[in-house]
Amino acid sequence: MSLTAALAYARHGIPVLPVHTPDRSGVCSCHRGARCDSPGKHPLLRHGVTEASTDPHRIRLWWAHWPRANVGLRTGVVMDVADVDSAEGWHGLRHLLGNEIPPGPQVRTGGGGRHLWFHPTGYGNRVRLIPGLDWRGAGGYVLAPPSRHAGGAGYTWIHRPGAGLPVSPPALRDLIAGPPPAPLHPVAHPDRYAETALESAVDRVAGAAVGCRNDTLNRAAFALGRFVGAGLLDADTVRRELAAAARSAGLGRQEIRGTIESGLHAGRRQPMWAGSLDGSGSRSVRRPGETARMRGPA
Ligand SMILES: [Zn+2]
Repeated sequence: MSLTAALAYARHGIPVLPVHTPDRSGVCSCHRGARCDSPGKHPLLRHGVTEASTDPHRIRLWWAHWPRANVGLRTGVVMDVADVDSAEGWHGLRHLLGNEIPPGPQVRTGGGGRHLWFHPTGYGNRVRLIPGLDWRGAGGYVLAPPSRHAGGAGYTWIHRPGAGLPVSPPALRDLIAGPPPAPLHPVAHPDRYAETALESAVDRVAGAAVGCRNDTLNRAAFALGRFVGAGLLDADTVRRELAAAARSAGLGRQEIRGTIESGLHAGRRQPMWAGSLDGSGSRSVRRPGETARMRGPA
């Protein structure tokens, strides 16, 4: 049962969050149902991963509301996770590490990939370290056993957590670190920064003049999609708030939906860099328009 598992993760210091669940036919439990672009993988909480908690009382309340919730685990606290989503990614990782995969916890994901748990690196999420391999670090989350995948399979342990976690090997760490960073703008409270971005985007869309309403909506969806990609905003919240603002500006429902989805999709592919710790202990966030600190295919 997922509550028991959620409480066990929390006892080990891993912040837990309830995540939407697919039904037997793979349809998401969210209001988008069969049209959801991330079935069973996005948070049930309004503020997403930022609300993840180790408090057993809070976790029991969540699971009382959503007994079938998938179990999300915030990364970057107890562990980072190498997210291998294809055979190509697995071969690439083995090649990178000279066939020496460090012994440590491994999950078979419901989609047929693997999650390898490592000691936290201090870095944030990275997309496509190599083809088929992402990194989930500070500010990110992964699904964990016994979550269900939209394809019907469950997340299961290949190797259960035992004593300690392996440190990520240097070759992997170099990929995660990427090229030398461009200057960062430290942001003391990235979660509040994301909230402020959402509020001001909603204001811009609601107040857009006829003739530039769709363009304003598209740019707002893209900008907020970058926060969603970094795990700082929940996609459903962004959809709901932007759609309400666009309706009040007078745009039609069909146009609104299409514009929001395409903007969000593009923005999520370029997540805001939300990873490292600067000297003050606050996280740093790249402002829109800067190049994300990610490396393409190796
Ligand atoms: Zn959904």
